Amino acid sequence: MRPNALDPLFAPLSALSGVGPRMAQLFARLLDAPSGDARVIDLLFHLPHSGIDRRARPTIAQAEPGAVVTLDVTVTEHRPPPPGRSRAPFRVVVEDETGDVTLAFFNMTQARLDKMLPLGAKRLVSGKIELWDGHRQMVHPDRILAADEADTLPPVEPVYGLTEGLSARYVARIAAGALERLPSLPEWQDAAWIRAQGFPAFDAALRTLHHPLDMAPFAPEAPARRRLAYDELLATQLALALMRAQGRRRTGRSLAIDGHLADAIRSHLPFALTASQEKAVADIRADLTSPHRMVRLLQGDVGSGKTVVALLAMASAAEAGRQAALMAPTEILARQHHARLAPLAAAAGIEVGLLTGRDKGAERAKTIARLASGEMNLVVGTHALFQEGVTFQDLGFAVIDEQHRFGVHQRFALGRKGDAVDLLVMTATPIPRSLVLSYFGDMDVSILSEKPAGRKPIDTRALPLDRLDEVVDGIGRALKQGARVYWVCPLVAESETLDVAAVEERHAMLQQFFGDRVGLLHGKMAGRDKDAAMGAFQRGETRILVATTVIEVGVDVPEATIMVIEHAERFGLAQLHQLRGRVGRGAERSSCLLLYKAPLGEVAKARLGVIRETEDGFRIAEEDLKLRGEGEILGTRQSGAPDFKLARVDQDADLVAAARDDARLILEKDPKLTGPRGEALRFLLYLFERDEAIRLLRGAG
Ligand code: ADP
Ligand code: MG
Repeated sequence: MRPNALDPLFAPLSALSGVGPRMAQLFARLLDAPSGDARVIDLLFHLPHSGIDRRARPTIAQAEPGAVVTLDVTVTEHRPPPPGRSRAPFRVVVEDETGDVTLAFFNMTQARLDKMLPLGAKRLVSGKIELWDGHRQMVHPDRILAADEADTLPPVEPVYGLTEGLSARYVARIAAGALERLPSLPEWQDAAWIRAQGFPAFDAALRTLHHPLDMAPFAPEAPARRRLAYDELLATQLALALMRAQGRRRTGRSLAIDGHLADAIRSHLPFALTASQEKAVADIRADLTSPHRMVRLLQGDVGSGKTVVALLAMASAAEAGRQAALMAPTEILARQHHARLAPLAAAAGIEVGLLTGRDKGAERAKTIARLASGEMNLVVGTHALFQEGVTFQDLGFAVIDEQHRFGVHQRFALGRKGDAVDLLVMTATPIPRSLVLSYFGDMDVSILSEKPAGRKPIDTRALPLDRLDEVVDGIGRALKQGARVYWVCPLVAESETLDVAAVEERHAMLQQFFGDRVGLLHGKMAGRDKDAAMGAFQRGETRILVATTVIEVGVDVPEATIMVIEHAERFGLAQLHQLRGRVGRGAERSSCLLLYKAPLGEVAKARLGVIRETEDGFRIAEEDLKLRGEGEILGTRQSGAPDFKLARVDQDADLVAAARDDARLILEKDPKLTGPRGEALRFLLYLFERDEAIRLLRGAG
């Protein structure tokens, strides 16, 4: 139902000239396209995080070493590398009336240089000036232009986050093509607010960022970026407000819950619930029995025991004869949940189905049939749960685990599988308290504020990587005492293939010491192999699990007590916290070793310091914001941040609050978005793919 005007933006990138199948694949990776095909809009929303200023045009004498400059020069000399020293650079001397500069080229043939920089030619060369042996030089200028091409040099070149195989200039060229497809759209923001903020129009803002004329658009407070951030925030807040309004209008069903199933499960738990688990269970029961539709966030740090709360709530729904589903973000996690919950539920006489992308054939068909007929009450799965073809007889309650892994629209989609579905979303993402409501709209919140009793603090240490031998010795001793160990391998920037190479190498090395007690788990493995690796570790057949960050989310093996994180300096704070949270789950003492490559940069040092100092997820989140504010590269995806592409948690907190008020006022005045601004706002919702919110408007939610 998307307006046709937006079609060019949702076309695949391969529709742009210059994007063949290979490049399309790289873009899909860069832009994290879920369907495997990145679209024009995805690239437009991939904002450059800074720019290279090519406007500085000093004379050679004025050019400051260290600066990027554009020089107007004449080529005076070619100096090929001396014979027999092919590794030495080819040097080209260029001059203006104030002096000369040597341009250095490695691995370049005379023929190419003769063409690019013929003797006597006038050229514009742009790049970074350096001092070498007291003489000015420029190694591989970024740009070399003939005099008649001078006006093709952009004043400022945008710098994009990249992935292997995509160059900055190529991405900039394709982004320019993407900009040409921008339709002119009605203004959806309030005129007075735009004026007050000095915001440009939506399309102008995108042009300013992708085609910068100066460096101003890259300042944190730049109106162009803030405008786009506000658009994204308003779309989100509006979608949340619509969902909320819908929930109120279309009252939920009040469930008759007598507690017999939940009580039966409880009596089989090997532990007593913590006070905050009890409180959360009671909150949810109250929601389920009330005639209002529930939308509740269950927030609890890693290891605080969210899963059992979900199970008891699902049992309550089943008591009232309705179905309940739990959706997890990964296959591994879905299987683990199923393996844990099914026996507990069975003790109360209820069956739990499993439905993931990998379950196929007769088994899958049977599960789907039993869900449709209502024979099966509870089901655990991945996003396969809300795909077409899966229907419920009467879905009444949906739980979404690790919600930050899902987009807003996915959260909505599960809700549509039933009538007035009560929704519980669970997250360990430690979002600072002050921001929770802003990011999740007017949800009710339950917080698991304490860890289950008997947990011991995790002994966290940082060690330089060159002490790996000692670490291996220590692991050897621990294994003799029966320990189980996670060994997480480095994230190699933006290359999954390299990640896998690193993890396989470490696996092979540890096998030399510990033989077949060492298991391996990474994202590129086939699903069955992943299960087998996880299962072997869970059962204790393997004792060390060498893994990539696939184990970051949710994996629960209470017997594991040692977490080794290699190249800890490459991980963000939220990720380190999540990883460490995989241990310290049982009664045994646990430890976490952060192996880092020395020397540490300032931010990395501070990060490791925070992790060593505290296990409090909230504190870690707050420190994270501070550190990020102080200089982490913009534009990198933070595993701790909710799913925003344009808005930034640290810099746009004020806009979040404004968007929330704005959304409320909009819906008060125009609840169906049918006025002129309402019509324009529909474009906004489609642009940010809050389509589900529009479905709600039509009463189909
Ligand atoms: P998370 O909140 O990170 O999802 P889990 O639900 O995976 O945490 O629970 C972590 C571990 O703590 C599990 O092994 C679970 O069985 C256990 N657990 C949960 N609640 C309690 C409790 N009240 N007392 C003791 N152990 C508990
Ligand atoms: Mg969990």
